[in-house]
Amino acid sequence: MIDKNCVFCRICGGQIPSSKVYEDEKMLVFKDIEPKAKVHLLAIPKDHFKLLSEMDCERAETLKYMLTKIPEIAKENGLENGYRLIINQGDDAGQTVFHLHIHILGGETLPW
Ligand code: 5GP
Ligand code: ZN
Repeated sequence: MIDKNCVFCRICGGQIPSSKVYEDEKMLVFKDIEPKAKVHLLAIPKDHFKLLSEMDCERAETLKYMLTKIPEIAKENGLENGYRLIINQGDDAGQTVFHLHIHILGGETLPW
């Protein structure tokens, strides 16, 4: 599913430009526009859903696929020394874009 009002769906569709670092039929990885670490990538499923709490078996298969790809994508982007994955769920976590995404942070010693 695609939501035409969703920023990340629009990035997937190419209507909003982004610095893509990896793309296949299921997922896209691109640079965060406001990086919170030296390297800050966002990995998204192409299928739009808003929240981790909307996870189901099919979406979990995609998430599993993404988690198998992320280590090689991280390595290709210079994160051999480690990195952190974050999924923000909802308002208390400060989620601002409601299309599930995994933050990939690294390129330096992270503060916590
Ligand atoms: P959240 O707070 O929802 O977990 O993270 C959303 C992230 O998306 C933020 O780190 C923000 O900088 C990033 N972001 C928001 N809009 C855009 C955009 O148009 N392009 C890119 N590359 N990143 C975006
Ligand atoms: Zn979306």
